[in-house]
Amino acid sequence: MAGLPAMKNSDDAVDFINDAYLNKLLNGPSPEPGLVREIISKSLDKQPLSVEETAVLLRANETELVESIFQTARALKETVYGNRIVLFAPLYVGNYCINECSYCGFQCKNSLAVRRTLTQAELKEQVLALEAAGHKRLILVFGEHAKYDADFIAEQVRTVYSTRSGHGEIRRVNINAAPMDLEGYRIIKAAGIGTYQIFQETYHHETYARLHPSHTRKGNYLYRLDGLSRALEAGCDDVGIGVLFGLHDWRFEVLALVAHAVHLKERYGVGPHTISFPRLRPASGAPLPNLSAATDADFKKVIAILRLAVPYTGLILTARENADLRRELMSFGVSQIDAGSRIEIGGYTLGQNQVVDREQFELGDTRSLDSVIRELLQDGYLPSFCTACYRLGRTGEHFMEFAIPGFIKRYCTPNALATLTEYLVDYASPETRQAGQELIEKELAKLQDSPTKSELEKRLRQIEETDKRDLYF
Ligand code: SAM
Ligand code: SF4
Repeated sequence: MAGLPAMKNSDDAVDFINDAYLNKLLNGPSPEPGLVREIISKSLDKQPLSVEETAVLLRANETELVESIFQTARALKETVYGNRIVLFAPLYVGNYCINECSYCGFQCKNSLAVRRTLTQAELKEQVLALEAAGHKRLILVFGEHAKYDADFIAEQVRTVYSTRSGHGEIRRVNINAAPMDLEGYRIIKAAGIGTYQIFQETYHHETYARLHPSHTRKGNYLYRLDGLSRALEAGCDDVGIGVLFGLHDWRFEVLALVAHAVHLKERYGVGPHTISFPRLRPASGAPLPNLSAATDADFKKVIAILRLAVPYTGLILTARENADLRRELMSFGVSQIDAGSRIEIGGYTLGQNQVVDREQFELGDTRSLDSVIRELLQDGYLPSFCTACYRLGRTGEHFMEFAIPGFIKRYCTPNALATLTEYLVDYASPETRQAGQELIEKELAKLQDSPTKSELEKRLRQIEETDKRDLYF
């Protein structure tokens, strides 16, 4: 393909998705309740599940067992992550694309799409708008095109980090873009990225081939499947996997996601940092393939079973879902959400309503960051903009968040409280500020007296009374 590097897999690239085996696991008989309970108690003990064990949970249909899976997901969310929810926003940089993914508004055959790439000045303008709303963490999103090579993406990352105004700054930039070669990942890593995300869309080979024609770059299943292995080999030790639910049987996809996580952990000693589970949305100029819809009830199981199978992996629920469902699903083990999102190119400086023919797909939750934060606070969650681990090099196999007992109390909760205080002081509406202060008081009361608590209280006062910001543990 002109302008893009040849697609070379890592030397030991392997297609670890065996469709026949996964189908066999899914088509087994209804499991004995005793076996299901045994697996549930293994995950309550925070042990990751195997593909085979996950399949047993997926085959459990009795109401009582399903309810028990849901309860375990809620309990794990509470014990592993506490009540923190990390917030971010997507920033679409360019929608030129050479691929023909039939579900996506950016596909090259969509003649209705308004094609644009943000100029450097426009990118800065978008970043300033996001900072003015209070964001600290972004994910940059790109179509696949020779224009968006590794050097270009790295330049956008540097521009985002260097665009600051007042207390506004972006402290973590993640990427969602096409798979790169080793050299590409090295270039992007050097620009200081957080997570590199690639969604396989569907792990089911036949469906993948149908939706991504073989003459297109994305038609190479193995190159995409191996994409994050190459990222890890090139030193990007923080990667995110995902599936676009609605293309193939959701139960197959959950098993395949777990197989992918197991593969990365076995081979590189580190599993994916996050799993995303976008659901198919209507897209202008891309008639819905509507192959295998995951209903809301199915979707709850997707999230709960993933929570049990990979207790230490972050789960990302996007604004593709509507506000009510997001509120309900939050308790099932979600650890990150986007909020105040706009996905038109240049969307953060457009008016209030989404402009559907400029989007890749239609968003379900278009509320502002402030109203999402207010709802989280009222529901007892602790919104966090923390970026400390990544900036202190606590990533990949050095990622300590869950390995060290007491890590959350010593680092995550104080950092969440400090970043929330920054948000409340600098950006929040009076009602959100009120709700935030009430939650902060409750959280401080929960912390035992310790040098960390006194230091935290000192820092919260500094944020309130001075210009000091970014005070992390
Ligand atoms: N072009 C790159 C790629 O395909 O990997 C990255 C960016 S793409 C804009 C980001 C993700 O959006 C895709 O991986 C896909 O899962 C998701 N997506 C595409 N069309 C969608 C739709 N109609 N509804 C919901 N999500 C969609
Ligand atoms: Fe292009 Fe990605 Fe959309 Fe496929 S999903 S058409 S590769 S932007």
